[in-house]
Amino acid sequence: MIAQGSEKACPTGRVMTNEPRHKTTYSNGTLYVAQCELGRGVFARRAIRRGEILLAFGGPLIDFAETKRRGASECMAIQVGPDKYIDTQPPGVFVNHSCAPNTGIRNDWDLVALRDIPQGEEIRYDYSTSMDEKSFTMRCQCGSPGCRQVVTDFAELPAAVQDYYLCRRLVMSFIVRRLRGLRATASWEPTKAVATFERVTGHSVRVGC
Ligand SMILES: [Zn+2]
Repeated sequence: MIAQGSEKACPTGRVMTNEPRHKTTYSNGTLYVAQCELGRGVFARRAIRRGEILLAFGGPLIDFAETKRRGASECMAIQVGPDKYIDTQPPGVFVNHSCAPNTGIRNDWDLVALRDIPQGEEIRYDYSTSMDEKSFTMRCQCGSPGCRQVVTDFAELPAAVQDYYLCRRLVMSFIVRRLRGLRATASWEPTKAVATFERVTGHSVRVGC
């Protein structure tokens, strides 16, 4: 996906810039693509209500080897399986990361609003909810009060943040399946987890658990 800041180190050690691979400017009744401090981003054309599905990520399915063959575009793909990626097309390819996101991915491809989003606000989700490469890191400059500084694989997130996303079904199903055995023995305290997450991020993201 699109890097935060001027460049990022990909899992393979490559460095990519913020310049999107796709030059097409996208716009529909709900979203539009525009320049932002991180390169390009997706913005709300109108006020969006919590629970709305804003887009479905789509594109050709490729494996990790193919993402490597494509060079810098490797990080533009979204992981949907242990060795399966969507070569994301616009507008999804332009959605940036946030450690305190206003959207999340449900059903492996639907981008859903986690709260009401005012017109003009940038649409972002947490890249960690789709990453399980055992080595993924990306420098983060999302600017959220609770920014984690480094975007990692989902398994590396603090337990409270994992719980927040898991109990709201905002994690790719292949990650949930892999973690299910590990998480089964962990204490499950969604209320405490949500409170902790909101305190850490300084950003209230209330959605039914
Ligand atoms: Zn961040």
